[in-house]
Amino acid sequence: MAMMFKPVMTLCAGVCAAMVAGCARSQGPDDGTRYSFALQDGFQRLSGELSFSGDADGASQIRLPGAWGPEAGLDGQFSDFRVSVAGGRFEPVLVIDGVIHLEHAASAPLVLRYEFSQDYEGLPQWGVQRVPGLRPVTQPDFAVFVGAAAFPHPVWSDDRTPSYSVSFSQDGLPVSARSSLGDGSRLDTGPIPASRFLDTLWILGGFDQASRVVNAVNIRTALRGDLPLAPDEIQTQSEHMIAGAADLFRDTPFETYLIVAMPLPPLPDQSAVIGTAFHQTFMLLTTANAPAEEIRHTVSHEVLHEWITGRMGPTDTDTDPSRMWFTEGFTEYFTLLVRLRVGDLDLDGFLAAINALEAHYQASSVRTMTRMELIDHVWDSRETERLPYQRGALLAFLADGRAAAGGSDRLADVLAGLIDEA
Ligand SMILES: [Zn+2]
Repeated sequence: MAMMFKPVMTLCAGVCAAMVAGCARSQGPDDGTRYSFALQDGFQRLSGELSFSGDADGASQIRLPGAWGPEAGLDGQFSDFRVSVAGGRFEPVLVIDGVIHLEHAASAPLVLRYEFSQDYEGLPQWGVQRVPGLRPVTQPDFAVFVGAAAFPHPVWSDDRTPSYSVSFSQDGLPVSARSSLGDGSRLDTGPIPASRFLDTLWILGGFDQASRVVNAVNIRTALRGDLPLAPDEIQTQSEHMIAGAADLFRDTPFETYLIVAMPLPPLPDQSAVIGTAFHQTFMLLTTANAPAEEIRHTVSHEVLHEWITGRMGPTDTDTDPSRMWFTEGFTEYFTLLVRLRVGDLDLDGFLAAINALEAHYQASSVRTMTRMELIDHVWDSRETERLPYQRGALLAFLADGRAAAGGSDRLADVLAGLIDEA
């Protein structure tokens, strides 16, 4: 697959990028941003209501999701816009390039009502979405969507940290959701940046859900369908990696982590495994025939993204391909190192994996591509996509080995200094 990413996400499987989008202005008097959804026809349609305080200068904008990850044209999922300003109706609603523009009295309360549903027929399929399951899914028995691909959001500055409230109901009765922000029919956050709010995954309906507290982290799962690794193994692998990485980077554990997995449609004579990391969350998409070892490695890699670069703070989305040697390559090296440390790989397995990276790199037809060439062509082919993984992982292995031999700080200690999120 060759793709270009611009959104809030970290997507892996040879296609990966860590980034954060954001918004612009100072803190307003009422910084509560509220979403409420009434579910229709099972989970097929969400009647949404977004409420917030308009800007003090009397002009506000609401951005509809446009492109996220491999998916574009997301504004087609939305219809029937209605706006009320301080209780009065406001029509027609003006949408220009995916942005709703409103003029109103200073700081007036604004409400946007709209309908939201998947913009294709039936279950996700190859050839319909770039990655089946990453474009929002709203089905009779379940729904799954990424915050950045599904929530219209006021256009604000990065330094603003509103609090958010999100609620779901069906026929007037509360419906529980499972999300990166927590579980329940109504979720309230403290003050958080918009980028954090949008870097979330949301699950409604037909998933097998479980949770257990391990080392003070509430690890929650939402799984569905025929997966090549047993649910308990997916959960245990994630638990080991969270504990191992927190220990290696001397980080304090976070309160909760969400694991979501669901099947990809079958491919003729092939298997596919795609992992995507969000804030304290990953989603695994896999064909039922994928090798168990590939699932274990992808799960481990996605967990490592919580530290590289999730807990290092926001990153600039526009320059992401130039940093993949770090965001993906170092993640790949530390995935192997933590798997070794927690006993998931023995020394032979660790060295075999490093040797395999080296062998693939040596055999790569794009091995001589310069760093600058690669920035523009990273999504051109499977080989160009893999190059930053190979270069970064081998660089990290070399640098860490030299540090160990020279008695200086190990690479994990250097990274620990970059992790500033408690
Ligand atoms: Zn990755």
